[in-house]
Amino acid sequence: MNETKDTESENTETGGTAETLSFEAEVSRLLHLMVHSVYSNKDIFLRELISNAADACERLRHLSVTDASLVADDPAFRIVLAADKEAGTLTVADNGIGMDHGELIANLGTIARSGTRAFLEGLEASDDRSALIGQFGVGFYASFMVADKVEVLSRRAGDDRAWSWTSDGLGTFTVEEAPLESAPARGTRVVLHLNEESRDYAEDGTIERIVREYSAHVPIPIVLASTGE
Ligand code: ADP
Ligand code: MG
Repeated sequence: MNETKDTESENTETGGTAETLSFEAEVSRLLHLMVHSVYSNKDIFLRELISNAADACERLRHLSVTDASLVADDPAFRIVLAADKEAGTLTVADNGIGMDHGELIANLGTIARSGTRAFLEGLEASDDRSALIGQFGVGFYASFMVADKVEVLSRRAGDDRAWSWTSDGLGTFTVEEAPLESAPARGTRVVLHLNEESRDYAEDGTIERIVREYSAHVPIPIVLASTGE
């Protein structure tokens, strides 16, 4: 493994430890580009998060064919988008498969997707950077174009433990056990703390427009449930 554990500290709430880890080198480069936004069209972050949420639901739907108990508590898959203007947050939640501790660390930090390298190479070779975004899905890390802090709470279907992942996208991320009452019963909740220039993404009208534009064909129902109006 190429992950580096930087620090460990005690969590008073769960009695567990919080691990702070470094992003894999290519993920770090990608994040640097996201934080310093090379793209004019930031809207696509939402397409990426919705696509991940829909994938997670499809994966669980597939598993539930042979193990119906995985979805028995909550058989209706859905993606919930919730803006809180006061708090300046946008939340994307799904009741899909979720991630356990190891999956959170690998998928959101230490294993660069094969597409990441191709994307970075393309970027270096290209004059028209914004065109690349259509060619390569930049994925989860696109969140850092609009957020200066991202929290992910996840509970894998069938597991009795939940985990939180937090990062400012600047080199490290922290993973720790989350109290069950603050985590989704199943699936993943991504909370974006919108940066100063991106507060418009906490407006229902903006969210509706982007969903219509980029996520019209997602096969899982998308629900808008904002608070703090
Ligand atoms: P990609 O979707 O192309 O694999 P992403 O950067 O968008 O790349 O996501 C990386 C990985 O993180 C996904 O492949 C998946 O394993 C995991 N992941 C991201 N979002 C979710 C989610 N909402 N539920 C479950 N797993 C997720
Ligand atoms: Mg994705």
